[in-house]
Amino acid sequence: MKPVSEIATFVKQAAKDAGFELAGIAPVAEFSELSRFPEWIAAGHAGEMQYLEKRDEAGNLKRASLRSAVPWARSVIVCTINYNTAHPYSTEVQDPDRGWISRYAWSNEDYHEAVLRRLRVVEDRLRKVTSETAALQTLCYVDTGPLVERVYAKYAGVGWIGKNTCILNQQMGSWLFLGVIICSLELTPDFPAPDRCGTCTRCIDACPTDALIAPYQLDSNRCISYLTIEKRGDIPEEIREGTGRHVFGCDICQDVCPWNRKAPSTRADEFQPRQGLVNPALEWLAQMTTEEFRDTFRGSPIRRTKRAGLRRNAVVAMGNSGNRRFAPVLEELAADEDPVVAEHAKWAVRKLASS
Ligand code: SF4
Ligand code: SF4
Repeated sequence: MKPVSEIATFVKQAAKDAGFELAGIAPVAEFSELSRFPEWIAAGHAGEMQYLEKRDEAGNLKRASLRSAVPWARSVIVCTINYNTAHPYSTEVQDPDRGWISRYAWSNEDYHEAVLRRLRVVEDRLRKVTSETAALQTLCYVDTGPLVERVYAKYAGVGWIGKNTCILNQQMGSWLFLGVIICSLELTPDFPAPDRCGTCTRCIDACPTDALIAPYQLDSNRCISYLTIEKRGDIPEEIREGTGRHVFGCDICQDVCPWNRKAPSTRADEFQPRQGLVNPALEWLAQMTTEEFRDTFRGSPIRRTKRAGLRRNAVVAMGNSGNRRFAPVLEELAADEDPVVAEHAKWAVRKLASS
């Protein structure tokens, strides 16, 4: 059994051994960024993402206070792994036949599982080294925990929160998956990462839908990632043009970030792209059958938008492509049995005709 003072160093080394590039420890505290979370929810900026609005019995937002959501929590071990691969950025690709899937979703395996598997290895080593500490409690999460992970990542020193709201690291850039282990031990915390955005506003200026309503503030209702992944039913007509050729997520505010210019590539095999997902053919996506969707995206994060959402996004992208070759297919899709696909295809026909 190691003294608690040495466990922080041990666990960060264990994270590196498990394949994480960065790891740090944050204390559990009422950080100023968390006090802004309830205002952000109250302003409606979370859109329809009700999981962000889960509340405890007293009616407080769970994600706003880890202390009240998990009373025994004393530290958060934050681990990050790079998912970047050596492929062009969306801002470098202009092919009117093809759409864009967000870089994180190209992977062979759903990142939730790939990250969680590594977190379990770290958790296991932590348990072994503290085996005489009967009181040790831990919880591992990838996206699903009762905390705002990027705030803890900042205070664990792994990166600062950029004006685009992503975690940025000076050496690694922002193509990072985050995993956390909530821990009952009071481990020695790291220092928070300093903000290195400076006077830069490239992400805010480049966002095609003005979703970054102020530095560090995102309105999900305007964000292409939210609209193409989380939003069910209609994409509001006034914002469809701004979504461009994005069919699942959006990378623009990361692609333009100077800290990503020299972002290294991942060492993890699971994050290599599946065939066909880098710049996917729009016609293929719009006409995908149920079986093809199931087979193509088995174990992929793209399942989240479901076949209906992906087809809706693909027809909007075809309308925005300016590619008149799509007109006959879109006219057929305007009579699709899915009324949402049909309505968006009718819009796309009009959009193409006017382009
Ligand atoms: S992901 Fe795209 S739409 Fe969302 S804030 Fe970034 S650039 Fe804007
Ligand atoms: S583009 Fe500039 S302002 Fe935006 S996150 Fe990167 S460094 Fe910060």
